[in-house]
Amino acid sequence: MALSICSIASGSRGNCILVKGADTALLIDVGVPLEYLVKALESLNISPAQIDGVLITHEHGDHTNGLPAFCRRFPAPVYVYEQAAAGVKKRLRKETFDFRCVVFSDGDFFIKGLGVSPIVLPHDVPCTGYSIWDREEKISVVTDLGTMPTRVLQSVADSGVLMIESNHDPDLLRASSKYPPVLKRRILSSHGHLSNADCAEAVVRLYAAGRLKRVILAHLSLENNYPDLALSTLRAAFQRAGLRIEGLEVSVAEQYKTTGFLAATS
Ligand SMILES: [Zn+2]
Ligand SMILES: [Zn+2]
Repeated sequence: MALSICSIASGSRGNCILVKGADTALLIDVGVPLEYLVKALESLNISPAQIDGVLITHEHGDHTNGLPAFCRRFPAPVYVYEQAAAGVKKRLRKETFDFRCVVFSDGDFFIKGLGVSPIVLPHDVPCTGYSIWDREEKISVVTDLGTMPTRVLQSVADSGVLMIESNHDPDLLRASSKYPPVLKRRILSSHGHLSNADCAEAVVRLYAAGRLKRVILAHLSLENNYPDLALSTLRAAFQRAGLRIEGLEVSVAEQYKTTGFLAATS
């Protein structure tokens, strides 16, 4: 099977992604309960023991809550960006961290047959997205970023599939009675989360410039967003740019539902 991606869970209550190559299976984040992850992997015909590595984006609980339980049951090494290591270390027992975690700095590396390029993202704790590649095929994941820097756009430009955060609608967020002002400011800041409009602008630029075939809108807020709003914001941005969105396959990743596999090439 070609390089492909499946969202296992996506949103502020928990995140986990599976990326699969010919002979390599990787997880990005384990922010879900272990029982949920095991069931989801089994529904995709993958045994958790087959996972060759776990890439962590950052320390936040929605990306790491299931990691201690995963490490107790399964042997895969855990890859952590050096700037994020102190935060992730707090989530694991010291022995587990020292024994299981591979701390990487900037630059590409390989896990079995797949290349991994970390992408540093602007978030309120050290955070990375990832491009995973196999020869000409490439899949990129960028969530938990307050803005979309040009260097990030450049590094994901030649991806066949892009999983990108479309977190919130700023008007819904500002009007929310559930979120305290300090949390609203954090989410809206340049180190918070990407809005629907900022996500749409990035997707339009990438689609116009490159070979993007599939996009997965991800990490949607359950309180300040809904799938139709994220999709209509994207459609409107394509229309304004004079582009036909029909050329792009768009999925929305849900909180506790897998997307099925999306391949980097058709
Ligand atoms: Zn998150
Ligand atoms: Zn976060």
